[in-house]
Amino acid sequence: MDRVFNFSAGPAALPLDVLQLAQQELVNWHGSGMSVMEMSHRGKEYMSIQADAEADLRELMSIPANYKVLFLQGGASLQFAAVPMNLLRGKASADYLNTGEWSKKAIKEAKKYGGVNVVASSEDKNFSYAPAQSTWKLDPNAAYVHITQNETIGGVEIFDAIDTSAVPLVSDMSSNILSRPMDVSKYGLIYAGAQKNIGPAGLTIVIVREDLLGQTVAGTPTMLDYKIQAENDSMYNTPPTYGIYIAGLVFKMLKAKGGLAAMEQVNRAKAKILYDVLDASSFFHSPVALENRSLMNIPFTLKNADLDEEFLKGAKARGMIQLKGHRSVGGMRASIYNAMPVEGVQALADYMKEFEKTKA
Ligand SMILES: *Cc1c(COP(=O)(O)O)cnc(C)c1O
Repeated sequence: MDRVFNFSAGPAALPLDVLQLAQQELVNWHGSGMSVMEMSHRGKEYMSIQADAEADLRELMSIPANYKVLFLQGGASLQFAAVPMNLLRGKASADYLNTGEWSKKAIKEAKKYGGVNVVASSEDKNFSYAPAQSTWKLDPNAAYVHITQNETIGGVEIFDAIDTSAVPLVSDMSSNILSRPMDVSKYGLIYAGAQKNIGPAGLTIVIVREDLLGQTVAGTPTMLDYKIQAENDSMYNTPPTYGIYIAGLVFKMLKAKGGLAAMEQVNRAKAKILYDVLDASSFFHSPVALENRSLMNIPFTLKNADLDEEFLKGAKARGMIQLKGHRSVGGMRASIYNAMPVEGVQALADYMKEFEKTKA
């Protein structure tokens, strides 16, 4: 089969076994005589699919009982607005850590609904690191503290445990959710667009602590009110049923592979293959601070940017695509989410070493 190694940041590669199972079930799901796409979202078949997806996600992430899991639409970008609308709760402002392009967008949107206090920023070094919590200027009266746990463009990931004491911690985990175990109880809210490490685009997952619900700002659209979504099991209107079904298959596959602790081992091993190449090279360069090197998105530059196009062309000829870096960082970016097999990472590492040998 002619499958490429797809290093796209998102929408990204999905596990082949999930795609093949979906293909088998496409026109007749479990003897129902119909596709999941054709099912009433209120029918018992689809209700069981969504209930299973939620139960499996809860088990995978050990989500405590006092948290709601919401299956929404609008992407992580709509959460940039939904978070302040729901969590400001009458307070004047929220704290935001600025670590890159996605933080900046979250900050810009939050300013429409309240004050934003930027607790620390890494803009001074082109967002190549995450400021340590010891340097943050936290406001004890903040409604919440927002972080971007993994900056998909910059390849900067926060691994330190963050302690915001009584102030709820909100995390955009769009590109690192399910990559390793996370202690959900340390967060007030976690959100993620599905198209990086969960499933197809069109689904957004929100995990939110119950006591934070029910105090939206005036004028919040019904669809953006977490409490109403929770009370309706994410079925206030028609949910993105097929995306939830595929996400559910991904959750089952992850459970079968040993869960998130097992994924972390694999993901660390995969990332190490590429970082070892970068560290041993005088031709390729990683711009990211050691302690914040993302396990999921690995940007790197070539010593001579004139060779970028040739590098990409050679990669494509070897079945490796979507390696071009974001314009704000330049160079290359390899996104190696859960679905990227170790063979793909090894193929890229081998190609990089070969390229360096002939071009350096
Ligand atoms: C991709 C991404 C977003 C935007 O996601 P959409 O679902 O396209 O709105 C936000 N934050 C992070 C960290 C991302 O990687």
